[in-house]
Amino acid sequence: MDLQLRGKVAVITGGSVGIGLAIARGLAAEGADLALCARDADRLATVAAGLQDEFGVRVTATAADVATEAGTAALVDAVGTEYGGADILINNAGTGSEETILEAPDERWQAYWDLHVMAAVRLARALAPGMKSRGGGVILHNASICATQPLGYEPIYNVTKAALVMFSKCLANELIGDNIRVNAVNPGLVMTPDWAKTAKLLTADTDVSWQEHLQKVADDNAPIGRFADPEEIANLFVFLCSDRASYCVGSTYYIDGGWLRVTT
Ligand code: NDP
Repeated sequence: MDLQLRGKVAVITGGSVGIGLAIARGLAAEGADLALCARDADRLATVAAGLQDEFGVRVTATAADVATEAGTAALVDAVGTEYGGADILINNAGTGSEETILEAPDERWQAYWDLHVMAAVRLARALAPGMKSRGGGVILHNASICATQPLGYEPIYNVTKAALVMFSKCLANELIGDNIRVNAVNPGLVMTPDWAKTAKLLTADTDVSWQEHLQKVADDNAPIGRFADPEEIANLFVFLCSDRASYCVGSTYYIDGGWLRVTT
């Protein structure tokens, strides 16, 4: 299936590893040019050069912290200079948390709010007008199943991802008149390097291997009995970027191996 994404410009925050990298690979394979952003400049530059070589598309790398106003401004500037605007924005950068509500200070709430919500607000505000003048566009938010079904150890993550989903809905209503389709994706368990690293730490000096630990996490939570490969999540993002998803507007798509325990 040709998704007709060749020559489109896609901005991906957190495109250097994990789900963001898988989305970058999926879009590059369809011929889209990429503007990637992450904080670790070396890793990002290596990834960008690799994608350019492998897929023959144009890839720019902006090392910036999207949780800051200066970081999103740097990314927007780079997109303007290199491409003159964007057709697709994937707000993917994010990370889990661990705290209790009674002990977490204001600064911690603010930091996750800035990363999960304000980055998306600022990038939409800066890039949507250009999408409108290009005839339309797509904005996708990588939230989490935790936006609806909270995990006990990460209340700040749950709350800020829920806010991101509501932001996505409000933005969709505001922009569909300009032919910009906005949606959110809520993944479940996705096997990224961070999960392996944490599992290795948790199982060091125990009888349980890190692989067994992760299998138990999957068995305890996802009826499918395994983690998703990042590529399985990226496939949905790439589809939603394409005109094949032309009636997908203002929705939240769960992709969780059956983990969500209710219907929505
Ligand atoms: P990874 O930790 O594997 O990758 C995160 C990416 O975001 C990296 O490229 C990282 O690069 C970048 N990043 C993190 N913080 C910032 C920042 N402040 N500014 C710019 N870039 C940043 O994450 P995943 O692939 O696991 O997760 C991606 C998204 O998917 C997240 O929003 C996460 O909440 C969500 N998700 C993940 C699930 C999972 O099981 N893995 C499940 C459900 C949702 P660098 O560190 O160099 O900045």
